[in-house]
Amino acid sequence: MRSAALGAVLDGQGWALARTLLLLLVGVFWLAVGYWTFKDARRRIQRGWLVAAATLLGLVPPFLGALIYMLFRPPEYLDEVRERELEMRALQHLRGPDERCPVCRSPVEASFLVCPVCTTRLREACVSCQSPLERLWQVCPYCETPVVRRPPPGYADAVGEASSPPPGRGRGRRGRPE
Ligand SMILES: [Zn+2]
Ligand SMILES: [Zn+2]
Repeated sequence: MRSAALGAVLDGQGWALARTLLLLLVGVFWLAVGYWTFKDARRRIQRGWLVAAATLLGLVPPFLGALIYMLFRPPEYLDEVRERELEMRALQHLRGPDERCPVCRSPVEASFLVCPVCTTRLREACVSCQSPLERLWQVCPYCETPVVRRPPPGYADAVGEASSPPPGRGRGRRGRPE
């Protein structure tokens, strides 16, 4: 009889203890979930008030709020977004700026001599091998022919004849015995 009574008392105490422990455990878990929500939100959300709102949501309907947060949180970490942006910028830098026609802004390729849309002349062709030449090149890199610049229209008539006679004629005159 005595042992049964003791057992009943112990049972009662045991239940109370178990309930207290369970409540404590649930409470600790609830706080942990709230803290996890805060940490996760801070890594995914930039604005402070949104992080605070997410943390509140993670706490207030206990557990259910955290579940709702997980359904609607931004899919990427801020670090990943930043990294991807850096990568994109590096890639763009590697590819070089896309060339565009200076007149009509149509995309053009490096090998185009004229803009196919507005027919603006983009580069000269090599006189020997017809390769497209960049503006700054002094010699054709494909056939080693020195680049001859086409003078602007009117320039040859006004200046060329008067100041510099063709080299052949000049040399011939100077070389002739008197
Ligand atoms: Zn154009
Ligand atoms: Zn050439």
